Amino acid sequence: MLLSAVQKTTLLDYPGKVATIVFTLGCNLRCRYCHNPEFVLPHEVEKIRPYVIPEAVFFRFLESRKWFLDGVVICGGEPTIQSGLLEFCERIHSMGFLVKLDTNGARPDVLARLLDAGVLDYIAMDVKHAPGKYQNLVGGSKDELRYQESIDLILSRAPDYEFRTTVVRGIHSEADIHAIGERIRGAKRFSLQNFQSGKTLEEDFSWESFSSEELANFHRILEKYVWKVYTRGENEAS
Ligand code: SF4
Repeated sequence: MLLSAVQKTTLLDYPGKVATIVFTLGCNLRCRYCHNPEFVLPHEVEKIRPYVIPEAVFFRFLESRKWFLDGVVICGGEPTIQSGLLEFCERIHSMGFLVKLDTNGARPDVLARLLDAGVLDYIAMDVKHAPGKYQNLVGGSKDELRYQESIDLILSRAPDYEFRTTVVRGIHSEADIHAIGERIRGAKRFSLQNFQSGKTLEEDFSWESFSSEELANFHRILEKYVWKVYTRGENEAS
């Protein structure tokens, strides 16, 4: 596991739990609006690689917080590209912590193995775009079916979960929000996140966020498809 950073405590990233966040290095997508190109682009990743946190150090830290933490959030980059993820989750679980995985959904095979092993308590999956529209936004493989496969796996087998979309003006339309809602119809939880300007992987695109009225409209649309919708102004593009 390549661990790039640890956020010692979060009350926001694991619903209802006190958790620590561990960030993994590298990603299999190239989302144009990504705010963390240093964790994604290979030449940037190489600069960080000498400074990764050894697993032993991370687990010593966890041991010291046993009395305080409920769980661990594993996020990226993209954690499912890490070798040793299953063993990493197993070890966290065996220490008595809950495990939440944040994923872009591009590796349904890995998700299935983790679910088979029973080491995930919560999955948060990004639904980057409406079906048929992924490619232009995230790059990588043209095989969009793998995202659909991950959605189906989560809907049918995850102990707890949420889907989430970062919406960007000029990228997502009202029709796209309907299509995303339709794809995850009946889901338990959805988190709608407005894009916030800042450093992005594609620098020369004039990225813009939506107004609060437009966001409220998207929220209302998604409530037709999903049990509980949350809107966050803050972008968590990962
Ligand atoms: S937004 Fe997330 S999934 Fe997309 S490139 Fe960045 S880290 Fe990877």
